[in-house]
Amino acid sequence: MIKFLDLKAINAQYQQELKDACSRVIDSGWYIMGGELEAFEKEFAKYCGVKYAIGVANGLDALILSIRAWKEMGKLQIGDEVIVPANTYIASILAISENGLIPVLVEPDPETFNISPENVRAAITDKTKAILPVHLYGLISPMPELIDIASNHNLLVLEDCAQAHGATILDKKVGSWGNAGAFSFYPGKNLGALGDAGIITTNDIKFAKIVRALSNYGSYEKYKNDYKGVNSRLDEIQAAMLRCKLKYLELETENRRKIATLYMESISNPNVQLPKVFDYENHVWHLFVVKVKARKSFVEYLRENGIETLIHYPIPPHKQRAYKEINERKYSITEKLHNEVVSLPISQILDMSSVNYIIEIINKWEGN
Ligand SMILES: *Cc1c(COP(=O)(O)O)cnc(C)c1O
Repeated sequence: MIKFLDLKAINAQYQQELKDACSRVIDSGWYIMGGELEAFEKEFAKYCGVKYAIGVANGLDALILSIRAWKEMGKLQIGDEVIVPANTYIASILAISENGLIPVLVEPDPETFNISPENVRAAITDKTKAILPVHLYGLISPMPELIDIASNHNLLVLEDCAQAHGATILDKKVGSWGNAGAFSFYPGKNLGALGDAGIITTNDIKFAKIVRALSNYGSYEKYKNDYKGVNSRLDEIQAAMLRCKLKYLELETENRRKIATLYMESISNPNVQLPKVFDYENHVWHLFVVKVKARKSFVEYLRENGIETLIHYPIPPHKQRAYKEINERKYSITEKLHNEVVSLPISQILDMSSVNYIIEIINKWEGN
């Protein structure tokens, strides 16, 4: 069976280094907010090309605390509107509603699946205060255009970078375009911890300080609480794991690009629609997503041939019970996508002979 994602094999590549790092933390006797976190934050900020990176407990908290910090700074308030793609993982939208702001869902560009600047422009009202682009599947959103719109309308930009560590446009990485970027290091992401972790990137020192305080009980100074904060910290063990793995991220992304290129050049079944790629360097291929009308039989056929696939995602956020107040809304591009997408295996360690086998099996499929 070709697994969709083999986390054990991914981390086994660096087994000794990860174990050594773990021992280093155990032996240090310091487990929260110590040297590993401080070093990782510096290394990750440098990697992204920003001044500050603030570790938090996970990607959802990175999004929630960024918005929360802007509320504390008086830049956002309850009831403000935030424009977000309708076809995203639900976390992007939860972060907005959790803060008492209004998610304004917009249809994606049907070619790239990413947020459409045209639809963003059309959705702007007097209450719009921010845009939350999601670099879905590893493809960076059209940031130059979005930044332009944001500066014309005085909007904040929060990038959801959970699927796109290291993706660039014009040599500028995700997380360095907006006012802030939120990353997840969930184990299956391109840069994955061995547990939960997340980080916020920014060039705004005031924002950075508030986010840090919010993630640590609203406190700048021990036992003094300036905000009603939360406990959302990136612990030393995970920071140490991430420091090891960050070193190999670029190399690993290269393997994803090789696989994606092979898929793009060799899948020739007319019933399997390939993603549109305009520039390979802008993409870090967190997922390789094709569209197939007869999805059920395609997935079944691949499974019978020993190939595991997943669907990202089967139900759009506006159709979830959690958002029953907007279940009746119609986002037809988003809904069609959710009915047709299939994610093929891709990872930093998937080998080319498996990829060639997957291509051969797909090209033999006679369904439609
Ligand atoms: C994974 C993911 C998140 C959330 O990250 P967690 O670390 O699981 O909280 C947010 N947004 C997107 C687009 C994601 O894929």
